[in-house]
Amino acid sequence: MHYSIFSLARAALGGHRAWTPAWRDAQPKPEYDVVIVGGGGHGLASAYYLAKEHGLANVAVLEKSWIGSGNVGRNTTIIRSNYLLPGNIAFYERSMRLWEKLERDLNYNAMVSQRGVLNLYHSDAQRDAYARRGNAMRLCGVDAELLDARQIRKMLPFLNFDNARFPIQGGLLQRRGGTVRHDAVAWGYARGASDRGVDIVQNCEVLGFAFEKGRVAGVETTRGPIRAKKIGLAVAGNTSRLAALAGLRLPIESHVLQAFVSEALKPLIPNVVTFGAGHFYVSQSDKGGLVFGGDLDGYRSYAQRGNLPAVKDVCEGGMALMPMLGRVRLLRSWGGIMDMSMDGSPIIDTMNIPGLYLNAGWCYGGFKATPASGWCFAHLIARDEPHPAAASFRLDRFARGAILDEKGQGAQPNLH
Ligand SMILES: Cc1cc2nc3c(=O)[nH]c(=O)nc-3n(C[C@H](O)[C@H](O)[C@H](O)COP(=O)(O)OP(=O)(O)OC[C@H]3O[C@@H](n4cnc5c(N)ncnc54)[C@H](O)[C@@H]3O)c2cc1C
Repeated sequence: MHYSIFSLARAALGGHRAWTPAWRDAQPKPEYDVVIVGGGGHGLASAYYLAKEHGLANVAVLEKSWIGSGNVGRNTTIIRSNYLLPGNIAFYERSMRLWEKLERDLNYNAMVSQRGVLNLYHSDAQRDAYARRGNAMRLCGVDAELLDARQIRKMLPFLNFDNARFPIQGGLLQRRGGTVRHDAVAWGYARGASDRGVDIVQNCEVLGFAFEKGRVAGVETTRGPIRAKKIGLAVAGNTSRLAALAGLRLPIESHVLQAFVSEALKPLIPNVVTFGAGHFYVSQSDKGGLVFGGDLDGYRSYAQRGNLPAVKDVCEGGMALMPMLGRVRLLRSWGGIMDMSMDGSPIIDTMNIPGLYLNAGWCYGGFKATPASGWCFAHLIARDEPHPAAASFRLDRFARGAILDEKGQGAQPNLH
């Protein structure tokens, strides 16, 4: 069903009885050319681009729960391409360009809102670091503006400029950054992939792998065995558990990250703002709630829920930036499981078992990467060679010492 102003009007005139399900709830077939494990944003985008860009339609996405139940439906919806390192800038900018045309491509309203992402700085050293990052971005054709305190005050007069422990000196603004309705991304890609023949199989957990002649030959699932010539893993926080079923140990730890939504307020925050003296980021949803988050909870877990010390820490960051937040009521919070890699950068690569491919290590920045991740993973699976935009995301970079440590924190996932 094509969505348009006319189909909306027709459906409204018909009492909204004409709508059909957005994607087929498929039953698993015994065999596929490609099986993608994980119906999150990355798995669904990979299946969509496999079908659309590479003509591979005998593809299944196996999801242990419902699609969108993982991090793709739990994140704080921020997209941006304001990176410093060459291996990252090109990749995230490719993602940003795919976001910019995603809704037309998918014929689906994902509420892509390029409202701007502003990183505040609070010291001379931080200003220098942001100026360097902005210059690196501009050299790669990415938009970046370094603003001073006067410009920020004009833009966001409600921030704490006068009595702050860490006064705001300025900020780095990427106007093309912004937010996207997170679960609509899962639904839009699912619909697009399903339309092209991909089977989206929900309630189908992968429990193990089958091997033949040194190659991966299929998966054991809660809905029976499924054979496949190629298998792509895109299970985010469950990566280490799934890889262990194939006998692999990866440089990934799983940590909890929480997100928070306040009661609905009148329009207040026009863009995405991040606090540079602590870890706090906030935007306002179209329903009026402030959507915000901060640091990891600080311990390893596979549970999709967090604890109170992180709630307190995040709210303190918010109060430092906007003291009036103290009077706002917190409505909801939840946790997601982050696949934290040892250098804070992702992995899109083949494995040492032929036929097995890995998409993981997204830490807490993988939502913005969804379109480019799917694009590059589909390329890797279809052609058995890495896409040039993801060439830095090879697994062997840890052995070669060619790590992509954007934050310069070393192998300490809890600090990325
Ligand atoms: C609170 C929070 C805030 C965040 N904020 C941002 C942000 O603002 N910007 C940003 O860029 N990123 C953000 N992220 C990170 C981003 O959401 C993730 O990096 C990204 O969504 C991960 O990729 P995914 O969508 O494929 O993962 P998921 O949606 O988690 O998909 C993985 C899927 O695999 C399934 N699965 C697991 N094991 C199995 C199995 N054995 N068999 C079958 N299926 C299985 C899971 O059920 C899940 O649905 C945030 C994350 C969280 C939790």
